[in-house]
Amino acid sequence: MHDANCIFCKIIEGKIPSRKVYEDEDIFAFHDINPWAPVHFLLVPKQHIASMAQLTPAHERLMGRMMLLAPQLALQEGCTPYPEGGFRIVSNTGALGGQEVHHLHVHVMGGPRPWLRG
Ligand code: 5GP
Ligand code: ZN
Repeated sequence: MHDANCIFCKIIEGKIPSRKVYEDEDIFAFHDINPWAPVHFLLVPKQHIASMAQLTPAHERLMGRMMLLAPQLALQEGCTPYPEGGFRIVSNTGALGGQEVHHLHVHVMGGPRPWLRG
């Protein structure tokens, strides 16, 4: 379930502090330490899954719930509504996908532009 060397597992367990956005039994969300946009948080499963590449049909409900939470939490955290506002979702996967932390995560970015990146 947990990887002792994984920074996001440590954040989920509270061993590394983070600015929490949301938590339930299966999902945790926290602000990115190095934001690219005025709103930038990460949605992660509590279960250690290395990346999108490891997903199986057993994760269908979990990933569906994460995708449904993203727009709710985006508004909660200050993104303005669709269609004038909105947000961007990114899930970097593998080295060529730009993934640095190998615990599946979805970046949710939004707020007024310009952004630093993205
Ligand atoms: P990746 O490139 O793997 O998609 O992005 C990993 C993200 O995790 C980066 O945007 C980085 O800023 C963020 N991050 C890395 N370490 C920490 C940390 O200790 N705390 C928080 N809140 N974010 C982190
Ligand atoms: Zn992990």
